[in-house]
Amino acid sequence: MSSECLFCRLYRDGDHVRSAGGFVAVKDINPRAETHLLVIPERHIETFRDIREFPAEEAQQMLEFIADTAREVGLEDYRVVVNVGPGGGQTIFHLHWHVLGGKVQGLPE
Ligand code: AMP
Ligand code: ZN
Repeated sequence: MSSECLFCRLYRDGDHVRSAGGFVAVKDINPRAETHLLVIPERHIETFRDIREFPAEEAQQMLEFIADTAREVGLEDYRVVVNVGPGGGQTIFHLHWHVLGGKVQGLPE
């Protein structure tokens, strides 16, 4: 784990909307929807491509954390987005999930 990783730092020191069992949710600093949260796992992997590095139980817990977070902030209908690699719009190389509620402004180039 790199101490330079922004999302490792956000996991430790950020302003969390919600946190439980190795996962946090934070508000995206540049929201692209009425509600735009990021779910960040404590475990540092660079990209969703490497999801095999997650123990199965932890992966299950991460998905449940995403659904529970959306429910707790009052979202019933929403989008869950993962950008994978620069060509897929990924700019921060610590796995994270976008939770988008309401009208979405568009995907990154
Ligand atoms: P991605 O482009 O999928 O890698 O997503 C990175 C997201 O992190 C972008 O939507 C940024 O707006 C967001 N972001 C960058 N820095 C911060 C920060 N300090 N706090 C919250 N969100 C951030
Ligand atoms: Zn990290």
